Amino acid sequence: MKEKQKLTTASGAPVDDDQNSITAGPTGPILLQDTHLLEKLAHFNRERIPERVVHAKGAGAFGYFEVTHDLSSYTVAKFLSDVGKRTEVVARFSTVGGEKGSADAERDPRGFAVKFYTEEGNYDLVGNNTPVFFIRDPIKFPDFIHTQKRNPVTNTKDPDMFWDFLSLTPESIHQVTILFSDRGTPKTFRHMNGYSGHTFMWYNEEGEYVWVKIHFKTAQGIQNLTRQEAAGKKSVDPDHATRDLFEAIERGEYPAWNVNVQIMKPEEAENYRFNPFDVTKVWPHGDYPLIPLGRMVLDRNPTNYFTDIEQAAFSPSNLVPGIAPSPDKMLQGRLFAYHDAHLYRLGANYQQLPVNRPKAEAMNYQRDGFMRLKSGFEGSPNYYPNTFGGPEPDPSAKWPSLAMTGVSARHPYGHPNSDFVQPKALYEKVMTDVDRDHLIGNIVDHLGGAKKEIQLRQTALFYKVHEEFGANVAEGLGLDVEEVKRLAQE
Ligand code: NDP
Repeated sequence: MKEKQKLTTASGAPVDDDQNSITAGPTGPILLQDTHLLEKLAHFNRERIPERVVHAKGAGAFGYFEVTHDLSSYTVAKFLSDVGKRTEVVARFSTVGGEKGSADAERDPRGFAVKFYTEEGNYDLVGNNTPVFFIRDPIKFPDFIHTQKRNPVTNTKDPDMFWDFLSLTPESIHQVTILFSDRGTPKTFRHMNGYSGHTFMWYNEEGEYVWVKIHFKTAQGIQNLTRQEAAGKKSVDPDHATRDLFEAIERGEYPAWNVNVQIMKPEEAENYRFNPFDVTKVWPHGDYPLIPLGRMVLDRNPTNYFTDIEQAAFSPSNLVPGIAPSPDKMLQGRLFAYHDAHLYRLGANYQQLPVNRPKAEAMNYQRDGFMRLKSGFEGSPNYYPNTFGGPEPDPSAKWPSLAMTGVSARHPYGHPNSDFVQPKALYEKVMTDVDRDHLIGNIVDHLGGAKKEIQLRQTALFYKVHEEFGANVAEGLGLDVEEVKRLAQE
């Protein structure tokens, strides 16, 4: 039998009794000197940390990434240097808009975040289960997210807010089309792909660079819920995907993803028919086929959800030599926003928490702050430059230079009509009749809750994607197709 452990206070002193408060006589009152009781109640009041504003509900696990194909001619990233090389990872999957207690089966993109504990520091790939995003400028992000939250007056989810914003933001139409397909309700976290979405730079020893997009393809196969199945899950088992991930790993059925890369040369990017840094667009496979890179396997469950997963802090700014950002404006905004969110949520020293601590030792001149866990800098000076052996920058870690010219202004993206090209390809060429039927049904079910003028404006966007798409949504909503057509042509 397991030896009984001693109950102690947080400062490690033994506790004599954890069932009876110290009172003056058997009926009370309680005495202030019961410091064990005071500590217990006070700590309980402080159990909650700020909930993530986005991606609050999530599940995760540990595992490894293994290189299966040699792409080291494109990048000096050491964790990608040799076939067979393994790097430990922690992955977190999440819904986006709902609170921490919301249902896993909500229609929403799924976050797909992976932290690679490489020998050159942590590399975080903070993607989604969709290859594109609703907006392409971070200045729109807080507004967009507000529309997915509760109405500030009624404190309920509001289809008017949701569709008002989207119908006024035509660049969202590609992501909306994917979201309202059954891919908007994946069966579990194991049965979905993950995409970097953003374009990143890879560079090699010679400083030559390429642009890349990363695709994690589920080895379990894509499986989705219909909206009827999702509604059932939401009411019967709101944590179904969280439970599924944990139980599959406990059973030894380790979920895996095959990791692929699309590679675009810089000279191709200059004249490509889409802006390759626009996160509302994919790079069609016909132009940029998937090149295999590796495999991710999740084989270890967290032992404590809070310390291992809730405190896991991912940021696209966690890059390692060989990988650098692209000019994608959404990525540029996220390079700031994620780290900043963790500073607020977890504090200035969040990168020292066990799940976030790099395997490569962090050495720098950052000092002190709330909840500093380790020094790691014994005897080292706290300023740079110095003559006392403090850590030195390594010029070989610099990113390739990129030539930039242009006028400083709030530039919109050009060619808005190209926003309809890729959702059209999806609707017309990729989806089956069943996919299209479910897409229309899912949209009608949700958009039907919005005001008629909003329904009309949004349906006109679907019409601009494809006449049949718009006409079928209009019919499902009982709208006048001619009016939708007229709006689409305005
Ligand atoms: P392809 O026919 O080569 O690729 C289409 C891809 O679409 C598939 O490989 C699959 O990607 C994905 N897909 C299949 N069914 C659905 C669905 N119901 N909902 C969403 N995605 C689905 O054509 P293109 O590369 O030219 O792309 C055509 C359209 O497909 C794009 O405009 C985009 O909407 C969509 N798409 C493209 C992706 C890309 O990176 N090129 C990735 C995902 C979607 P996967 O195996 O990654 O699931």
